[in-house]
Amino acid sequence: MNTDKNTFKENIRLRLKRRYGKDLSEATKHDIYDAVAASAMEYILDNWMATRRAFDNHPIKQMYYFSAEFLMGRAMTNNLINLGILPMVQEVLQELGYEYDEIEEQEPDAGLGNGGLGRLAACFLDSLATMNLPGHGYGIRYRYGMFEQKIEHCRQVEKPDNWLEHRNPWEIKRSDHAVDVKFGGEVVIKVDEKGRQYFDVDRAEVVRAIPYDMPIVGYNTKTVNTLRLWEAYSPDGFNLQLFNEMQYLRAVEKACQAEDISRVLYPNDSGPSGKALRLKQQYFFVSASLQDIVRSFKRKYGNDFSKLPDLVVIQLNDTHPVVAIPELMRILMDQEGLGWEEAWAITTRIFAYTNHTIMAEALEKWPIDLFSGLLPRIYTIVEEIDRRHTDELRKLYPNDWDKQQRMAIINHGMIHMAHLAIVGSFSVNGVAALHTEILKKRELKDWYEWRPQIFNNKTNGVTQRRWLKLCNPGLSALITEAIGPGWETDLARLRELEPFAEDPAFRERFAQIKHANKVALARYLAKSQGVTLDPSSIYDVQVKRLHEYKRQLLNILHVMYLHNKLADDPTLEMPPQTFIFGAKAASGYRRAKSIISLICAEAARLEADPRVKGRLKVVFAENYRVTLAEKIIPAAEISEQISTAGKEASGTGNMKFMMNGALTLGTLDGANVEIVQEVGRKNAFIFGLTAEEIAAIEATHSYDPKIYLGRNPALARVVHQLIDGTFGHEFQTAFRELYDSLVYGVEGNRPDVYYVLADFDAYVQAHEQALKSYADRDWWNRAAIINVARSGIFSTDRTIAEYVQDIWHIKPIAVK
Ligand SMILES: *Cc1c(COP(=O)(O)O)cnc(C)c1O
Repeated sequence: MNTDKNTFKENIRLRLKRRYGKDLSEATKHDIYDAVAASAMEYILDNWMATRRAFDNHPIKQMYYFSAEFLMGRAMTNNLINLGILPMVQEVLQELGYEYDEIEEQEPDAGLGNGGLGRLAACFLDSLATMNLPGHGYGIRYRYGMFEQKIEHCRQVEKPDNWLEHRNPWEIKRSDHAVDVKFGGEVVIKVDEKGRQYFDVDRAEVVRAIPYDMPIVGYNTKTVNTLRLWEAYSPDGFNLQLFNEMQYLRAVEKACQAEDISRVLYPNDSGPSGKALRLKQQYFFVSASLQDIVRSFKRKYGNDFSKLPDLVVIQLNDTHPVVAIPELMRILMDQEGLGWEEAWAITTRIFAYTNHTIMAEALEKWPIDLFSGLLPRIYTIVEEIDRRHTDELRKLYPNDWDKQQRMAIINHGMIHMAHLAIVGSFSVNGVAALHTEILKKRELKDWYEWRPQIFNNKTNGVTQRRWLKLCNPGLSALITEAIGPGWETDLARLRELEPFAEDPAFRERFAQIKHANKVALARYLAKSQGVTLDPSSIYDVQVKRLHEYKRQLLNILHVMYLHNKLADDPTLEMPPQTFIFGAKAASGYRRAKSIISLICAEAARLEADPRVKGRLKVVFAENYRVTLAEKIIPAAEISEQISTAGKEASGTGNMKFMMNGALTLGTLDGANVEIVQEVGRKNAFIFGLTAEEIAAIEATHSYDPKIYLGRNPALARVVHQLIDGTFGHEFQTAFRELYDSLVYGVEGNRPDVYYVLADFDAYVQAHEQALKSYADRDWWNRAAIINVARSGIFSTDRTIAEYVQDIWHIKPIAVK
């Protein structure tokens, strides 16, 4: 340890000198962070190279996870934990006169994702490396990640996320692996030296893709996998002629346009974008990644592409990377000279597709004109895939013209990416049991009947290395003390905690840790945004993207209901509660932004009301992101998972809360169903319409929210407060729009499409039950411990093991 410490310290000193020309006394905290990261990289690099060597020496199958998003968060503490040197580094920093925490705070989040989908990709990479599996990520190195959110006068304001302002010490630029990606141009037929005809594209715009590699460090193992992110670069620089004519802006315009491709993440969660730049991003990273994979295959195995499916499998994270299917066809046919049948047989053994959403409006489709203009050769390949596919459908369903239409890849002038994904993949999976069932029975019914054998479920998970060990060191230490180490790589072992739920001394220590986490969160939010939280109040938390289907509106309407109740009768007995929200709204999603304003306006109204002082509080935690989740979730007592049943594919926030001993207050939606299966209905607070009940209502168009308003005067009052001046004039229009959407329906939509009012009563009762249960502290702590103890199956280690067994068929490898 001491030699390690001295070496590490020496590395810090060297780094400060070489990069900053400073000694320790002159270094800023950021310099120190950078130097610690660089010193940690010294450990990582040897293992990284050894891992690459091991894979080079053994011809084994590799899995590549294609994802437009990787929501990595910070790397430092995660890497130090996985390397097993966190305590050593903490000591080193202490000896240098720094608190570890203040150095940790210097690192910006790698926020290259919107929410659950991107975070899942990040958790998968952690599990793959920890399980010594050859699995790597391919994506985009966005210059600006998820926007930074500020709240100003109760409104969301977006600021650019300049996460690369200082150099990123966790990446290595690999210019030697750059590849070119072509856009536009004209498809032409050429003849090669053997007289064979092939397709090419002339006069295309060429964009260079430069890879940056980030190491993915396995926990307590030598395996270091790779996340390869592509940056767009214009090889042309600027137009010298225009420059000489002194037209400087026009001279660099084309280069800027090329480099726009990796400029910014689309801040859109399960919504349509349909923008040309988005399609460019998708093709850019997919084409670069496939060229990279094929090149490395040829280098190792030569030109026998029939072996490709035995050595490469690619998981498509939603439809964003699905253009990979025709792109691999292009590479195999136009560049490698294979015929269609041969190329198709190979391609359809390589791709597996994960569906992430049930929301029809989120299913990606591209207008033919846009697609064929940007990717002319790819379009002709999609047309041919579609032609052959619809031929098959005609034979299978000769009398069902409707079905042939519904299942076409190209129809009504659009290319349906989910259809292309299913036709070109050997596996289609949903992300929770309920979600997969809904896909099979409803959304993808035709497709399931067509090829039932390719459909399967893979319930999501989260990595316990980040979502327990890193974010909750107090609870982690208690767990290890109780059941010993090992749960870090075998989360099912948490079951051994269960007997401790009956031990009053253990329960007391568990409760003390939760309280300490609540105090720590209060301190953090006081410092970061100047709010005061009462750690003796109940922390009730809903943190996730702002979306109508997630129903933050239901939550805040309930707070308004409690506010009225307490204001009417200040003698009412009610334990103090803090409702914590955190959510970003997509920049163009007006109603979502109105809901944020309502939450903040109600927070201010509570603050100004002496009748509720100290008893009810709303806190909107600004700029929700991985790093903030790591601080909030360990402090939570109630986990709000209240999406309209049938709408949330899985959710993973729900699993993080459970793992940290919060009780779920939620609907039977997504993975909540499986959480309740584990803990039992009595250790959660389940309410509301089920997915089946909602489907039945939808089938008959029988929902009328006014019935619920008529039946429940307290609810009618709350809803009316949106428009009666309660919140003043500033948000009159915005809140009127919320009101109208609930009561009348706007823009041709039915009213209250997410059943907020239908579920309100049940939601109130669930909260009342939760408060009653909370009063019995022994019961509550027992239930919280049971939640932790039974969270084992929600580790991504379990999810990954299932992908390996059913889809990828890859094997672990020992790194020497
Ligand atoms: C886990 C996570 C999510 C997903 O949360 P859900 O509640 O499943 O929607 C979103 N954002 C961040 C930062 C996360 O860590």
